[in-house]
Amino acid sequence: MTATPIDGKAIAEKLRAGLALAVKTTEAAHGFVPGLAVVLVGENPASQVYVRSKAKQTVEAGMRSIEHKLPDTTSEQDLLALVDSLNRDPAIDGILVQLPLPSHIDADRVIEAIDPNKDVDGFHPMNAGRLMTGTGGLVPCTPLGSLKLIKSVRSDLSGLNAVVIGRSNIVGKPMAQLLIGESCTVTVAHSRTRDLPEVCRGADILVAAVGRPLMVKGDWVKEGAIVIDVGINRVDAPDLGAGKTRLVGDVDFAGAKERASAITPVPGGVGPMTIACLLANTLTASYLRRGLVPPAV
Ligand code: NDP
Repeated sequence: MTATPIDGKAIAEKLRAGLALAVKTTEAAHGFVPGLAVVLVGENPASQVYVRSKAKQTVEAGMRSIEHKLPDTTSEQDLLALVDSLNRDPAIDGILVQLPLPSHIDADRVIEAIDPNKDVDGFHPMNAGRLMTGTGGLVPCTPLGSLKLIKSVRSDLSGLNAVVIGRSNIVGKPMAQLLIGESCTVTVAHSRTRDLPEVCRGADILVAAVGRPLMVKGDWVKEGAIVIDVGINRVDAPDLGAGKTRLVGDVDFAGAKERASAITPVPGGVGPMTIACLLANTLTASYLRRGLVPPAV
């Protein structure tokens, strides 16, 4: 079997186009434009790229983008004061504090200070709890995007065996909860898992969120499985020239595509879905905060 590649870039573009339309309709019908505030502390180059990209796509979707760039000497107290003012600002629907934060700031304390109804990253313990109990709330963007990619190739996941490799709060655990919500039988694997290849071979849906280049080999993949590669790893690429690098996932794409029925590439798979889902969460938050039912996009 040769897998169908899941084109995350195209699916994200379609989602963003739907959101742009919904934003226009929202303004016409309800008289408000969703606003997303992004807070960046420090000069982390990768974070600067993400924040630029988030701001650009927010504006392209017709939403308001408010950026707060703070020096890495910012105190935790000052950051908490900013979060508090954004919580109270009626024009702000979504607040995202870009991680990682400088080491002198307690990221958990900052996340817990965000109003859960504006927590468009879905990292607040209140939203984690809502996801676990299946009672709504805002869902972390990367797992939400990954689920949309899985459902782009198979709508009914009921009864399928899903294996999620990785148990972080931002990817692995919420991914597992979403798949439980789809009535999958879910195994969460991690660095202490025994015989990971064999665990993976039982997966109808295999999600890799580890951060280890090409760790998941082709022969770990069950024939016909749906493979979602969340990992983003920069590796040396001497074939492209001296000092060149490229991005690869956690899955050996070439090997896995010979056995999977569908697979996401890296780049161009999960990555583009993350920002699109951030915008979707901002639209959702803007409706829920006003006691309105969010549009289905
Ligand atoms: P974390 O480092 O927080 O978690 C990694 C997980 O992988 C941990 O649970 C760890 O287990 C597990 N792990 C590590 N080594 C092994 C191993 N040898 N075998 C099995 N499991 C292992 O990472 P994140 O969840 O934040 O991110 C994971 C990957 O996804 C990264 O590459 C990151 O860059 C990428 N990412 C991509 C996004 C996107 O938009 N596409 C967004 C967010 C992340 P243990 O808990 O036991 O230590």
